[in-house]
This record gives sequence, C-alpha cells and structure tokens, in this order.
Amino acid sequence: MEIWYDYISVPQWEKPLKERIISAITRVFYNAHFTLVHLSDIDDNTIKLLRHGGTQEDRIRGVTGICNAKWFSRVWTVMELIRSQNPRVMNSHYRIVERVRDVFLDEVNDVWNSELVASGNVHELESLAQMGKNIVPWNLGPLRISHIAKVVDFGTAFTLLSRRGCASDSDFFEALLGIVRPRRVEGKLSSDPAQAMRQIAVSCLEMGDYSPLLMMSRSYNGGDNHTFYSTSAHRNGAAHLLERCGYLDVMTYALGPLEGFPTHHAESEFRPGLRLKLEIIGKVTFAMTDTTRLFQPWLFLIIARTVLNFTGPNVDQFVRTIGSRLYNLCNEDVEEVLSDKDAWARIHEILYQWYNKTGTSHNDEERFPSGQTLAGLIGLDRIRTRSHRLVSAMDWMGEHGGTLHGANAGNLIAARCLGCHETFVYRAAFLRPPSEVYGSMAYRLAGVLHQGRSNESLGILVKDTEIVGRLVWASRACECRLTEKVDISLHDLPKRRPRN
Ligand SMILES: [Zn+2]
Repeated sequence: MEIWYDYISVPQWEKPLKERIISAITRVFYNAHFTLVHLSDIDDNTIKLLRHGGTQEDRIRGVTGICNAKWFSRVWTVMELIRSQNPRVMNSHYRIVERVRDVFLDEVNDVWNSELVASGNVHELESLAQMGKNIVPWNLGPLRISHIAKVVDFGTAFTLLSRRGCASDSDFFEALLGIVRPRRVEGKLSSDPAQAMRQIAVSCLEMGDYSPLLMMSRSYNGGDNHTFYSTSAHRNGAAHLLERCGYLDVMTYALGPLEGFPTHHAESEFRPGLRLKLEIIGKVTFAMTDTTRLFQPWLFLIIARTVLNFTGPNVDQFVRTIGSRLYNLCNEDVEEVLSDKDAWARIHEILYQWYNKTGTSHNDEERFPSGQTLAGLIGLDRIRTRSHRLVSAMDWMGEHGGTLHGANAGNLIAARCLGCHETFVYRAAFLRPPSEVYGSMAYRLAGVLHQGRSNESLGILVKDTEIVGRLVWASRACECRLTEKVDISLHDLPKRRPRN
C-alpha cells in the first residue's frame, strides 16, 4: 500500500520534479482507495451542533462552523475532492468521523434547506448565519454535484476555484486543468494568466464545452479595468455581493453545470481563431438598462410597458415574452395562464387600456395598481413550484435571477429575427453599455442546456467579434433556424479573485 501525503509528497524545492508530479495529482486522487480529509479546525462540538443542535441558532452555528473550515478555502482541496472516489473525514481531535459523505456537504445542505423551509426567507436565514463573515453552504459552490460528475465545465470549474487560495497562478491553472474535460492544452501553458485562461478555454470549447462563451468578462464590473459599470456605487455593490458569496465567484458565471452538446459543433473551427457555427436569434435593435426602480413590482411595471411596445396588445405574445423569456416561468405555467379564459380576458383588457393611453395621460403611478393585477394574473407574484421552488418569479429576480443577468434585473434587448423579420424581447446580461450592445447580433448556443431544462435558451451577443452580453432564458420565440459562422475573439475572460 502506498500513502500519498499532500504537500510532503510534492517536493516543493525541486521545480522540474514538482511540475511533473503536480500534473499527475488528479490521477493520484482519482485512483486512491480513499482520501482522508483532515479538518484541523473542526471539533466534536461543531459536529454535535450540526447533527443535534436544539435550536435553529445552534444548528446554523454547526452549519457555518463546518463551512468555515480552512480545508474548503483552498484551490487544491477542491480539485482533490472532485477527483476523489471515497473521501473520509478526520476532525481536530484526530478522530475519523463516521457517517460523513462528501466532507459533510450533504449534511450542511440538508440542515440549511430544512431551516430555509422552516423560516421561509432566505435573506433572514443568511443574516442569522452572518453570511459574508461566515460561509454558508451555497457559498462553497456546486461541490457535491461536481464531485459526483468528476469533471465539470470550464465556467463551473472557474467559479469554484476563482475565490480560493493557492500559491501561484500556475498552481491555479493546474488545479483548473485537473477538473475540466481536457487534461492539457496544446503546446505549453503560457505564464501570462490571461493567455493561459484563453488556452484552457479554447481546449474546452474544442471538446464541446461552450461555457467559456457565457462568462462575464474581466473588464466587467468588479474587474480591474473600468467600464461604465465602474461608478463607485456599482463597484462597491459588486464587491459587497462578491464578499457575500464566499468561495463562489457568482459574478463570472453562476449558471451551474451545462448539459447537452452544441448542435453545430462539427462545423465550427477552433484554431488558429474561433469561428463557431451558431443559430441566429436576431439583430439587436433595442437595448435598455433600467435600475431606477429596484422594488420588483415597479421594475415589473417598467418591463411590462416596454414589452407592450414590441408585442402590442397581443395577449399570447405578451404573456409568453414576460412569462418565459423575462421571468423564467416554465412552459406549463405559461400555457396554464393562456388557457384560463377569465385571466386571458382580464389581461387583454389591461393591455388595451395601457396601449391606448400613452405618455403623460397615463403615468406609472396611475398604472401601478393595474400593473400589480397584471403580474398576479400571469402568476409572477406567488410561488409556482414548477417554475421556482421557494420564491415567486418576481422575488427570484431580486435574487439569483438577477445575478444571472449581471446583478441587474432591468436589462432588456429586442432582437429582430432575420428569417421572419419579427422582433422579440429577451432579458440579457450586459458586458458593455447599452449603446454598445445595440447593433450586436444575438446567437443561440443550440443544443446546450442548463439547470435541467429541456429548452435551449442560452445565447450570446456579439459585436465586432467581441462578446458584449449573454442570454440565459432566451428560449425560441419563432420557428426560424438560421445559422451562420461567427468569429469570436474571446480575449476578455475573467481573472481569478481570491478571497481576502
Ligand atoms: Zn423568426
């Protein structure tokens, strides 16, 4: 029997040997009979609080106690956990703890979720847990699902590692290569981090992992370069959000593992430059960002009257746009609204009234009550478990739904289909100001799915080879299936942002 003792088994003082060993670590962990994880700062009491805490406070202290373990804070340990077949746990008393699966991940998640159901409010629970100062289960990132999968897409791998610590950029990239599909890149990995990111991203794309296209760029808010987002309010907001997300770099990806395979992959080119065959959604003829009203019912009102300008008082078009593409209701929930004759008639009445009274004769204050009625008729103001498990669709936009769209729930585009010449409205995350998003082309990543959904709703906005935005809920609005080859520069991938 051989024992691998991390750190000591890697001779830190002999660089060439160290490099060779490091590239073999992922295999060592994958082939190991078991991996013993030493949680040197977790004692018996923390485990007791987690498993048998008498009050909600106690149980949450148990949860954050485990999640705060130093072991979770490192790049290498994440790679090792994902690759390990059989991890076991030893605590600070050098005692091997029984009945632990996935380094307590399922236990902390179970306790967290049942407390969430009991309290009914995620923000209250997060404040009780002192999230930001403490780590809560979702702050650890999608570790369990990645552990089960053993390899993850580039976007997920980056968000898992970006905020964790390691000795150098080259260690970071080795750990990244340890969990993505391609084990190595063509040629030698560059010592320039931006170039190394691109090399690994292209290798992933080549294998059908298109997640690099969907990442928020390094010059996006929170990045180093200044964009229009870099007003102090936005920057502080982004920094605050990032701090609250712990080890999950939620700003750069946050889509969760991708499924499916890109439909036109075989006709795409990857070297020397990226030239991908993609499905055309349309030409972006309208781009808007509106955060003047962050209170969700107000934001809904602004969004609804904007959509009305494009759909006209056509109830089916309006409800499908708002329901599926802007608020991510599932098809069944949208069709249920449309087949309810009474709801349909009342929506029809409100849309006609709004459409015929424009400008100053009917301002937002006057529209507000009918706006709330409208949101209720479409079912956005209450929990519909088929679409969102714990909160209403409107509240979801104030949480993860907003994060998915660049932490901005008020970004919309309209794109004109080149086939049927109809214009449809989509929610988008902007990487550039609306003036630069305007005039871009919207493309769908056909075949690529996310979050267990069966419709292909992921896309990107491209202008002059640069990705200027992403689409997450852009399900098909018409039957057209035009495609074209698109040159993409991919020069603006995010850079890692270790915590502290
Ligand atoms: Zn069309």
